[in-house]
Amino acid sequence: MANPTTSREVRLASRPTGWPTADNFAIAEAALPELQPGEILVRNTVMSVDPYMRGRMDDRPSYVPPFQVGEALDGGAVGEVIASAADDLPTGTTVLHGFGWREYAVLPSRRVQPIDTSVVPASAYLGALGMPGFTAYVGLTEVAAMKEGDAVFVSGAAGAVGSLVGQLAKRRGASRVIGSAGSAEKVRHLIDDLGFDAAFNYKDGSVAKQLRQHAPDGIDVYFDNVGGEHLEAAIGALNTHGRVAVCGMISQYNATEPTPAPRNLALVITKRLTIRGFIVSDHNALQPAFRRDVAPLLDSLVTEETIVDGGVDAAPQAFLDLMRGANTGKMLVRF
Ligand code: NAP
Repeated sequence: MANPTTSREVRLASRPTGWPTADNFAIAEAALPELQPGEILVRNTVMSVDPYMRGRMDDRPSYVPPFQVGEALDGGAVGEVIASAADDLPTGTTVLHGFGWREYAVLPSRRVQPIDTSVVPASAYLGALGMPGFTAYVGLTEVAAMKEGDAVFVSGAAGAVGSLVGQLAKRRGASRVIGSAGSAEKVRHLIDDLGFDAAFNYKDGSVAKQLRQHAPDGIDVYFDNVGGEHLEAAIGALNTHGRVAVCGMISQYNATEPTPAPRNLALVITKRLTIRGFIVSDHNALQPAFRRDVAPLLDSLVTEETIVDGGVDAAPQAFLDLMRGANTGKMLVRF
């Protein structure tokens, strides 16, 4: 079969104010350039939608450049090489790369990473073995410096990062692992399937009150995916010398006004707390340690995925649904 000459892609149609909507996205067809020496043509099979993409829809400086209006979005994806002008990547190779949100991509071979799908499925490289898994590992072990015997609280606990934080904390000897999530079914999943010691639905009432109830002896580590009321509650519950790894603040990503700071910040002094933000890509030197420590656990970890079929046509809605908590585990779009 002849190679495709065009590819359908998702573009940023406009920048959102507050919550993004379907109108902020447009699907368009783009011509594919001819393969040059050293390049490959990849057909995407699965792509990731991630909360950080919300920040890229705004026009402000950050650690990744903003998406541009009228241009295709990008992000993590896995695909198959269907044509190759690169000696190192023959047709049929499965590759991980950063050109999601489109059906096909022409890429220099150095921009992709071949992956082995004989042991784990391709999607694992976008989840537990990929960026979210590495984020959980870095945040817990390096940023929060979790020690055996620590009581660990994680918000966004049923999501891609949070579900691994809780399970890794258990395996690293946490005395108690507490999670919060946004539905009764997710709370059940945390306890029954992922082995959390306690979990609560943050929509049921005061986070501080529920956390006190589920962590009567306090917490030593808080892995923050949510910010806002969760962070304030965690500061209140942290024991002396407690540590917070600030990974995300999804409760504030769609805010149109500045959000209030935790009202109890003075406790940072009296309790000698450490609150440290991090960006996972700054810690790439830990990749070998991550693979060494986490790859052998993969069989025993629950790595839930919420997979939406439909490729580029389904991707914008999958992203919008992720922001509202439709996913359990990693949210993915299959082509
Ligand atoms: P995820 O947790 O799989 O999906 C997002 C989840 O956020 C939703 O399922 C939803 O679950 C929850 N959520 C949405 N609005 C919320 C709110 N107002 N309050 C509480 N929970 C809310 O996403 P992920 O990829 O694993 O990312 C988790 C966090 O880590 C995000 O904040 C992300 O930005 C951050 N992150 C940071 C880095 C880094 O380098 N620092 C890297 C990767 C991810 P519920 O149903 O429970 O509400």
